[in-house]
Amino acid sequence: MDHTQPKSERTTAVAPIAFDNSYARLPAHFLARVHPTPVAEPWLIKFNRPLAEELGLNADALEGDGAAIFSGNSVPEGAEPLGMAYAGHQFGQFVPLLGDGRAILLGEVIDRNGVRRDIQLKGAGKTPYSRRGDGRAALGPVLREYIVSEAMHALGIPATRALAAVVTGEPVYRERVLPGAVFTRVAASHIRVGTFQFFAARGDTEGVRTLADYVIDRHYPQIKGQERPYLALLEAVAGGQAALIARWLCIGFIHGVMNTDNCAVSGETIDFGPCAFLDAYDPAKVFSSIDQGGRYAYASQPAIGQWNLARLAETLLPLLDPEPSEAVNLANDVIAGYGPRFQTHWLAGMKAKIGLIGEEDGDLDLVQGLLSLMKEGQADFTLTFRRLADAAESNRAEHAFAATFRDPAAIAPWLAEWRARLSREAQTPRERAQAMRLVNPAYIPRNHRIEQAIRAAEDDGDFSLFEALLSVLAKPYEDQPGFVAYAVPPAPAEEVFRTFCGT
Ligand code: AMP
Ligand code: MG
Repeated sequence: MDHTQPKSERTTAVAPIAFDNSYARLPAHFLARVHPTPVAEPWLIKFNRPLAEELGLNADALEGDGAAIFSGNSVPEGAEPLGMAYAGHQFGQFVPLLGDGRAILLGEVIDRNGVRRDIQLKGAGKTPYSRRGDGRAALGPVLREYIVSEAMHALGIPATRALAAVVTGEPVYRERVLPGAVFTRVAASHIRVGTFQFFAARGDTEGVRTLADYVIDRHYPQIKGQERPYLALLEAVAGGQAALIARWLCIGFIHGVMNTDNCAVSGETIDFGPCAFLDAYDPAKVFSSIDQGGRYAYASQPAIGQWNLARLAETLLPLLDPEPSEAVNLANDVIAGYGPRFQTHWLAGMKAKIGLIGEEDGDLDLVQGLLSLMKEGQADFTLTFRRLADAAESNRAEHAFAATFRDPAAIAPWLAEWRARLSREAQTPRERAQAMRLVNPAYIPRNHRIEQAIRAAEDDGDFSLFEALLSVLAKPYEDQPGFVAYAVPPAPAEEVFRTFCGT
């Protein structure tokens, strides 16, 4: 590694953190030990106090010393900063060496619930994996990740978390000069499908085994001692992805860059680059500027999830069975099982969105019928379902629901069918509406709101929109009378058509 970069200051005085760094104890070729590169003038934009408390950190001290620590200028005692090695398929092309090019894992802590969590600085300077990158992050993508990852968590969807954001006082050079920032991310772990691929690509079966054992210990301890632990691991990851991607679809989320290096084996949503939420429902929707073929379109996500799992399965083949053809058969069964698992999660989620508890043969058709009307009618995904909850409570609210469709009259036959179906359910309208409001958010991080918050911060140093957005998104399922403007789709002039990963 490069020792010429200035060393950040080590400090024992500030905010002790009870690190216990298990990844740092793995074999040397799993990682590169590297120090954050200090920045000129760190300033703490945001500190997530409740998360710090959940992690068992000294929130008071960190609120004071945060700028130094969360910029990487001061490395807390007990941290063992490192970059993780990984590979990955990027848009289907295999890259044998990626790794943390601008992220540095400070270390791990055991949180209040006994769960091991990574604390990582993103944008903290170059690492041996930086290739041609500068190791830095710009303010815009940092704010975007902060907003969206916290919103996902509040929506109840597994996601990495935002502990802090700092501006560095240094410029970063992209298409234009932008303010630099560092994002502090908390994750169940940062191990990706691409981490397995790193070892498999080198023919390092022992590396794959060590990593698999580590992942089983850390994320899936119930598997330990099973007859085929590595097959069970593949099944567990497949189950997590099936559940996660179903949640994304039910909430209108498009990850945008589902490369295997952005697919966490923990089942958390990770890497909020060009991600975006649907406004009008369109299954073919793509926002990311780099996704020209639409590989990661909204409705392609379940199939891509399966593709990524197949890449994980390939790395595990030598561990699944000594007989290669048997290993392939075992892996194929798991990969084939992912489809039905996804479908089960998705249908359960969609049925809840339209207020169904019981099971009837026509339920899938009822869900699909609504979705195709929404597509034709360019109905806003979030608003339509939220207003359907109102319609479940009172027929008078049907008008507002129908108004989300371009041709409100076209929805009448579906509404009649839905009402007939509801009449065969036991819930009262009020109970049903309440249950529907717990799965159909009033607020999502709408792209135009994120854009406005970033613009104000970048152009005017004004973080008030960022703060407002965070506060409304902390309770996405509650109506917040002061924030009705945040519940509605963008005006035509506000609409965002493209998102950028900003690397
Ligand atoms: P991402 O698109 O953020 O998932 O990153 C893909 C790969 O590019 C990872 O290996 C990153 O570490 C690396 N990378 C992204 N941005 C930078 C940067 N500014 N400097 C160095 N490496 C980067
Ligand atoms: Mg990534």
